[in-house]
Amino acid sequence: MALDNFITGAPTNLRSLEGHPDFEFHEANVNEPVEVEGDVRYILHFASPASPPQYDANPIHTLKVGTIGTMNMLGLARAKDARFLLASTSEVYGDPLVHPQREDYWGNVNPIGPRGCYDEAKRCAEAFAMAYYRAHGVDTRIVRIFNTHGPRMQVADGRAVPNFMAQAIRGEPLTVYGDGSQTRSLCYVSDLVRGVLANLERGDELPVNLGNPREVTMLQLAEIIIRLAGSKSKIEHRPLPVDDPKQRQPDITKARTVLGWEPEVDLEDGLGRTLEYFRSVVN
Ligand code: UDP
Repeated sequence: MALDNFITGAPTNLRSLEGHPDFEFHEANVNEPVEVEGDVRYILHFASPASPPQYDANPIHTLKVGTIGTMNMLGLARAKDARFLLASTSEVYGDPLVHPQREDYWGNVNPIGPRGCYDEAKRCAEAFAMAYYRAHGVDTRIVRIFNTHGPRMQVADGRAVPNFMAQAIRGEPLTVYGDGSQTRSLCYVSDLVRGVLANLERGDELPVNLGNPREVTMLQLAEIIIRLAGSKSKIEHRPLPVDDPKQRQPDITKARTVLGWEPEVDLEDGLGRTLEYFRSVVN
């Protein structure tokens, strides 16, 4: 069963599941109490805008879904005696002063900046998960997801991969913010999904980083996408957003040792697959 209010998702993404006998969908907002009949074995709480322009456009909703929405889903897990998994984020590390980021780093987050609504909501969500684990013995998991991309991201998502791909396909300039020296480490969605499921089965209550440690600058990313798309697009620099993290790379030692997980899809292969999808939807 899946619940979504489509604040950033789209019903068309569920098309392949339509009519599947084991799949049920309900349009719902987890910020409101949710009632589910019958047994529930697992709850995977992924609800939230995750793109900076989208959470900037919906700051109160973003705060609510990380806090009240998480509390509601933990309450449901407790009532149903279900295992609960929280989709947390590398944003809990903020603009990190430790590199690469390990799970024991507490982060460098500005609570009152434009990213505060997302970063602090996810930090609060982690605190909620730990509180339900300690106070009520709920079987909880926390995954800290680093930048991930893949088919079915929105064209107007606003993050670097969808922007650069749509721009490269249309022959428009790629908008690199700042001088493009800031780094990210990009994971392909199928690797991420394997990691989430491995943590659901074999993880513990403490957070685990999931991401691909291969780090690139945003200028390199733009150049790779132009090349893969066979595009004639140029690069145009735009102002760097406030509090944009300068560097980000997961230390995945814990995922490797505890879960036996590591990414398998290399950067260019993954970007090629995502590009194929964008070619089918960008016009
Ligand atoms: N970025 C960029 N051009 C864009 C969109 C994003 O240069 O059109 C940069 C952004 O400033 C950041 C990086 O790409 O440094 C990754 O941004 P994204 O929004 O994908 O995710 P974030 O990791 O910041 O949440």
